[in-house]
Amino acid sequence: MSNEVVFRYWENPLPEQIAPTVPAFLSQLDGPTILQISGRDTTRCRVVVTLLHGNEPSGLKALHQLLLSRFQPEVSILFAVISVDAALAEPLFSHRFLPGQRDMNRLFLPPFNDLQSSIAEELLERIRDARPEAVIDIHNTSGDGPAFAVCVEPHTRYVDLASLFTHRLVITGHRLGALMEVPDLGCPVLTVECGGSRQVQSDDIALHGLTRFMTQAQLYTSVAIEKMDIYHHPVRLELTQQGRMCYADKRQPSMDITVPEHIDRRNFGVVRPDTSLAWLGPQGMAKLLVLDEFGHNVTSDFFVERDGRLYPKTTLKLFMATTNPEIAVSDCLFYAVKETDHDWSETGDDNAGWS
Ligand SMILES: [Zn+2]
Repeated sequence: MSNEVVFRYWENPLPEQIAPTVPAFLSQLDGPTILQISGRDTTRCRVVVTLLHGNEPSGLKALHQLLLSRFQPEVSILFAVISVDAALAEPLFSHRFLPGQRDMNRLFLPPFNDLQSSIAEELLERIRDARPEAVIDIHNTSGDGPAFAVCVEPHTRYVDLASLFTHRLVITGHRLGALMEVPDLGCPVLTVECGGSRQVQSDDIALHGLTRFMTQAQLYTSVAIEKMDIYHHPVRLELTQQGRMCYADKRQPSMDITVPEHIDRRNFGVVRPDTSLAWLGPQGMAKLLVLDEFGHNVTSDFFVERDGRLYPKTTLKLFMATTNPEIAVSDCLFYAVKETDHDWSETGDDNAGWS
């Protein structure tokens, strides 16, 4: 399928061509679209990807506002808007992906043998052709919480990019098929999680961060790294196959884990060994999988069970805690990092091979 053109291209759209509302603009795009916006310097390029997940609109809203404002970026920008169909399905912006389809941000690895993965493949080809200075992939989290950025290896360039949006940067070794994991794009690829899709501040973070990304003459200025909160070695808390979970404000006896309804309020807050995180069923932690970056089950390094409840074994920070049971079951309940893995000392700039 590699020669099939799946994207629609739109070069330098004028403000008067842009529909006045975000839903109307989305209908106007009508499918995966790459918008090309010429910069003052057309010899350089940066790429923005958004709406890989149809229920995460902050990046699209920012694009819409920027297009209406007739702004001119410093360098040329390719803006790829991906899961337009999923976003358009009623109710608007409620589908991460369409029923029967797969999570777009798990498809950036071969084989590229269906329509969805051919979208991923063509996006990668367009990025390679453009030889950008950086790629930013804008998301919202499925629970509420503050913004953070994610990258796949320690390098000061990621710190510079992240600082345009947030002071929190997670360096993950998990490999799930996400865009940021693609190793040979020739530049850093940073995921930005702007916060929950219903939080007004998420839209502000996307707009202001993208404005900085598009208008700064130089991206890699080596910001003071000590101003950033950098987290290493996150683990994923998953439910085992056939495990049953729900959200409630008290223990549900038929469940293997009952998660408090507002678990997302813990995102990036400190949780100490005396913080009860959830209620466990009769099989306790045996129904949970805590996976490190190598796929090892490290449950007992991170959590303990006491009186039928789940507690951190050591001081942790949680992030990506979702309140959506479908995502909790199909992906994970949350990520966690140890506070002892919260520093910048491992961030170097000698191992990436970018020119
Ligand atoms: Zn997402």
